[in-house]
Amino acid sequence: MEEPARLGHAMTDIQTFLNTLHDRYQPLDKGQLASYIPELTKADPNWFAISVVTVDGRVFQVGNVDQKFTIQSISKIFVYGMALADHGRDRVLKKVGVEPTGDPFNSLIRLDEDSKRPDNPMINAGAIATTSLIQGPTPTDRLNRLLDMFSRYIGHQVYVDVPTFLSERATGHRNRAIAHLMLNFGMIDEHIEDVLDLYCQQCALLVTCQDLATMAATLANRGLNPLTGEQAVDSEHIRDILSVMYTCGMYNFAGEWAFRVGIPAKSGVSGGILAVVPNQAGIAVFSPLLDKNGNSVRGLRVFENLSQTYGFHLFDLSMGRCRFREGLAGAIADDASPRPAIAP
Ligand code: GLN
Repeated sequence: MEEPARLGHAMTDIQTFLNTLHDRYQPLDKGQLASYIPELTKADPNWFAISVVTVDGRVFQVGNVDQKFTIQSISKIFVYGMALADHGRDRVLKKVGVEPTGDPFNSLIRLDEDSKRPDNPMINAGAIATTSLIQGPTPTDRLNRLLDMFSRYIGHQVYVDVPTFLSERATGHRNRAIAHLMLNFGMIDEHIEDVLDLYCQQCALLVTCQDLATMAATLANRGLNPLTGEQAVDSEHIRDILSVMYTCGMYNFAGEWAFRVGIPAKSGVSGGILAVVPNQAGIAVFSPLLDKNGNSVRGLRVFENLSQTYGFHLFDLSMGRCRFREGLAGAIADDASPRPAIAP
């Protein structure tokens, strides 16, 4: 990756810095649209949005922030949280591990020899196993529980994009094969088509870039949505969710990401990346051109620049202070009414 853009007074003006990054990377047109789900090829390669939502409810954003797109794999972290809430950590750990694989997200699984578990909940195998844990008497009840959960994180009602759901259902043979393999080993029960439908529906949830940043801010704020004050997930599950995001959230780029950017994150093949600066803010970038790992090309550039400039890498101890917190404390959101500054 090239040298990060630098701004002399970036620490005190987050909005200006977001604008600069947007201007700088809008012309970058490397990468490909995801095409294995036919509906995703309808995306405009120029779409590009950056959103920051702070834990005290301020919003900074630039670009196509109202453009709707399907959440895809980013749904996996929230469904993992719901599985933890439904069953507790020990039971979930029996069904899906927490070990990074270094494999592509859709790799045909290597189930653990003894436990038969998929490695982690962020690859498709682990995510399908996680989805199979969602409780509810009927498929409609289970879908409604998921939609309610997502709307608590986002702060408004949410919908499934039916064409994308049907598009993935019609072409998702690889995921079907993964599910059958897990059925063979008794890791999921025989209602495979119901589980796969729910998995495709969660992936086809419609969101905007601001929605993703709000969801990330909710995780950063111990499960409490900072824009609505609603508790989206019990705070006791946040540590587990952020841990698997940190080690497994960016697929076979997860190690590089942890090294370069250094905060828990999750990406999806429609071009979203969401990341959590614990106790401070949620950040999201949406731009659908993807690199070979399936991560947004513009998204990676933006996050690397933000991390270097604001020093929010979890292990960036060199400054002895967090420039991101200082930047947020000094910044005033253009669309926000006065709110208390972030505590030092
Ligand atoms: N629905 C997609 C799939 O299962 C999600 C993949 C992704 O976003 N990486 O293939």
